[in-house]
Amino acid sequence: MILYDLRCEQDHRFTAGLDSMMSPNPECPACGGASSRVPSAVGIGGRASAGPSREQMPHSWQGIDRGNPEAVSHWRKKMEKREKLEEKYPELAGDRRPVLAHEGIFEGRPLRAGDNIGESVAKATAAQRAEQLTNPAAGKHSHGKPTHGKPGAGKSGVGMPSADKPSADKPSAAARSTPKKGDAQ
Ligand SMILES: [Zn+2]
Repeated sequence: MILYDLRCEQDHRFTAGLDSMMSPNPECPACGGASSRVPSAVGIGGRASAGPSREQMPHSWQGIDRGNPEAVSHWRKKMEKREKLEEKYPELAGDRRPVLAHEGIFEGRPLRAGDNIGESVAKATAAQRAEQLTNPAAGKHSHGKPTHGKPGAGKSGVGMPSADKPSADKPSAAARSTPKKGDAQ
């Protein structure tokens, strides 16, 4: 069985598993109209089709027909192709490093594993300051509890392993708006 994305004349989109490439397209489940297969969406400058993005791939067990071997291998091939493509064109992959902090000064500029912490803090602080100048109301709301004075709050910027601790510069703003360890996912 092969999964196809289909679209009817009224632009209803749906996915159906077909026995083979030669199988007739099923009728639209919404309106009963005739459907056609939707070609893989993204092309890169005419060189190659990028195929479905990771977001478009099935995430659930149902999405791969409860483990139907053909459906699984169909998507595994797509995933492998995608991975090769992302190696060649890293911009397709986006930033998939884990987010360490996304609150306080890092709201909208998440701190990710591998970032230079001192640099990121400086950048985020500067950006926040600029935002406050243009829009004084922004940045005043804070949903996190203040961490002043809590033991360990200022010790390591964002709960990083001690090896990655910024050595010299620890801007006080970072300590003040640092989320608790449990908050960074
Ligand atoms: Zn339809």
